[in-house]
Amino acid sequence: MKDSEAFLLHKTEYGEADYILSLFTKDFGKIKGIAKYAKKSRKRFGGRLEPFVHLRVRFREKPGGIKFIEDSETIRAFSTLMEDVSLFMCGSFVLENVEILLPEEDPNENIFNLLRETLSALDSKKNPSNAILRFQLSVLTLSGYEPNFDFCSVCKRSIEDDSYFSIQKGGIICNACKKNKINGYKISKDFLHARKDWMKGHQNFPEQKLDQPFDYINLLVKFTQYRTGKEIKSSKFLEELRND
Ligand SMILES: [Zn+2]
Repeated sequence: MKDSEAFLLHKTEYGEADYILSLFTKDFGKIKGIAKYAKKSRKRFGGRLEPFVHLRVRFREKPGGIKFIEDSETIRAFSTLMEDVSLFMCGSFVLENVEILLPEEDPNENIFNLLRETLSALDSKKNPSNAILRFQLSVLTLSGYEPNFDFCSVCKRSIEDDSYFSIQKGGIICNACKKNKINGYKISKDFLHARKDWMKGHQNFPEQKLDQPFDYINLLVKFTQYRTGKEIKSSKFLEELRND
């Protein structure tokens, strides 16, 4: 029997009483498994099998790799996230990024901790757009897709001023190089500075006020989609928060 902390990514009904669960576990990465009688058994699944619940799960693996989730318990439920529609959308977006960026069964404790911290920050309702943006920057770096915000992606000159971002080049480009490019998104020096601070500290979420944080969130959505070739479906809902 194996056990690990986990977050639920997806739950599909399977027959009368079972669920197929897709979980992001701390020790084994993303796994899929069958939870027998999970709809009925409160004893074994006292842990709420819902998104935004920090769980501990136990599972066993049959020869051939099929996993059976035996039981679960709740470590912490992020209940504000479950009740507030806007925050629910933010949380869903965060989980979908994990789903898209990580391969199956590839453990990544740093991303697990980042996910837990981000859900906790969203749950506290403090500056959700900052929490999302910092999450995007960190998860891209930790999963090997780090965008370059340090120097011009064309001429390699270091940049700390207003500049542009090229999705195709995978990073910022200076004003001089921009003249030969199309599709450069504006990047402010405030964003470059905030990003530097965020990348230094993993534990807290500095409260820099950014102009138009959703412009940057959208840019990183486009970048993630371009690099992975996958659509982040929940990003559409974030558009609605922009007008709040
Ligand atoms: Zn340049």
